[in-house]
Amino acid sequence: FGNCPQTLPELYRQAERFAQRVFTVENDQHHTFEEVFKKAQQLAQALTRRFGVHKGQRVAIVMQNSTEWIIAFLAVTAAGAVAVLVNSRGAPTELDRAIGDTDCSLIIADAKRAQRLQAADGASQRLARIVLTDDAQQLRSSKDSSFDELIRGWESAGRLSCAPVDGADIALMMFTSGTTGFAKGVMLTQRSVLAGLSGTTFGAALSFAKFQALAGPEAATAFATRQAVSLIVAPMFHVSGCHNGVLAALSSGGKLVILNRWNPEDALRLIGAEGVQSISAVPSMLWDLLRSPDFHKHDLSSLAVVGTGGAFFPPNLLRDVHKVLPHVVFATGYGMTETNGSVCSVSGEDFFARPESVGKILPIADVKVIDEDGRDLPAGAQGEIVVRGALLMSGYFGLPADSAATFKHGWMHTGDIGRFDDQGYLYITDRKKLMIISGGENIYCAEVERALVEHPGVREVLAIGLPDSRLGEVPIAVVVPQPGHVLDADELRAHTEKLLAAYKVPQAFYFRPEALPRTPSDKIDRVGVTREILAEHRAAARDS
Ligand code: ATP
Ligand code: MG
Repeated sequence: FGNCPQTLPELYRQAERFAQRVFTVENDQHHTFEEVFKKAQQLAQALTRRFGVHKGQRVAIVMQNSTEWIIAFLAVTAAGAVAVLVNSRGAPTELDRAIGDTDCSLIIADAKRAQRLQAADGASQRLARIVLTDDAQQLRSSKDSSFDELIRGWESAGRLSCAPVDGADIALMMFTSGTTGFAKGVMLTQRSVLAGLSGTTFGAALSFAKFQALAGPEAATAFATRQAVSLIVAPMFHVSGCHNGVLAALSSGGKLVILNRWNPEDALRLIGAEGVQSISAVPSMLWDLLRSPDFHKHDLSSLAVVGTGGAFFPPNLLRDVHKVLPHVVFATGYGMTETNGSVCSVSGEDFFARPESVGKILPIADVKVIDEDGRDLPAGAQGEIVVRGALLMSGYFGLPADSAATFKHGWMHTGDIGRFDDQGYLYITDRKKLMIISGGENIYCAEVERALVEHPGVREVLAIGLPDSRLGEVPIAVVVPQPGHVLDADELRAHTEKLLAAYKVPQAFYFRPEALPRTPSDKIDRVGVTREILAEHRAAARDS
């Protein structure tokens, strides 16, 4: 099937060989590759002929995970336009701003998102919309067209014909998670997307090979002859869902089991019913699965690889899940929106041996650690992580100064702090922006969080620096206990004192009964929680 694809259209052409296979499963409905491609071709024709969509134009996709999301993505990129992947969980003004700031000319939305956009009164109001609704009567204004009617209105032979594009053309725009500030729109070229995807595929192949080695010859053969099946819970508007989920399935002919909303009981049922082999989840989801009353109800023997990434993975969670799923290979990686996914990865016994590591460099990228003057640092020394390679973004949309500051001599500065060990494993220590400086001492939030999460009663934790008139800043911690655990500040203080220097021990503990609020990519919403705690802190200071 030709060469290694350099563009999305080349990837789509190669995926035609999977025509008769099931591509997506959603609400117990199965859709083949051919069906999905056919609808995408119909929508692509409507986009170009009716809406005049052309190369380089930006089209916003604002939908929850669904087969239609994939159809919209295929259609927009086949038309040569830039797919702007908007966070479908955003509030009306956030959606509006994302669409307005990226200068989109058309919106493709599902009914719920269209309704939410209706409530905003900014830039997006002026744009034409294609709305996913079964009932054309439901369309609210003359600017709206029905997704389903558009699809029915055009002929398709089931082949997706694509506008000519070049590796250097922008294919997608995605937004960062907004962990350290507002979410930035990241411009990703065709070639960078495919380079990132090759890293993902390589990492996954390694993990599956480890599973086969563990499983023994019979199970390994059975596994190798089946279609790959993955359960997708990560958002498709982010690298985790788009590259590791949708694009990986297009490249390998895999089946995607789509779960529109996270629910551990549905996830467990689908793993059993669809023979799911891989799932990529964040730590809180794995805690949910483990603690679900349904955990032992379903046959989970098909599960081969559980991937996690994007944030620190608690070692005690790794130990707990390994106990109940000993045949499963756990994998993690380090990467970001700006690198189209992972630049380092680790799995199986290598991960168990050093659960704090994010792995070794994938062959698709150069990664090194530098000091403040830009000099390379040796193994063991801590500094800023920088990345180089074909998988890098071309810049932040509309933010030329930020883009220029991020690239120096071809290396992208990640803002993450870390170190390599002498065997080439990378460890993330913290982010530059999240460091707490207390009485002149640097405290890494991640270091405080790791110490606390080692306590068996802690489910989630966030360390934050609060303003202090004497020390500048002091560390505090926001803690969510494991269900059924009663925790108090004295116990956590004593626990942390055993592990960390006195100045790093949180001066206060704020308890929260429920999981902390999340960013769209399911990371803890640091900015939001910090704002909330600061308000509480100020109110308490006023009262005293
Ligand atoms: P923003 O850039 O808007 O502040 P963000 O950096 O969280 O948000 P993403 O691109 O989704 O947005 O996340 C990439 C970041 O996530 C990395 O730069 C790194 O800080 C963190 N990260 C990724 N993988 C890991 C990991 N395995 N362990 C710890 N942190 C990780
Ligand atoms: Mg970032």
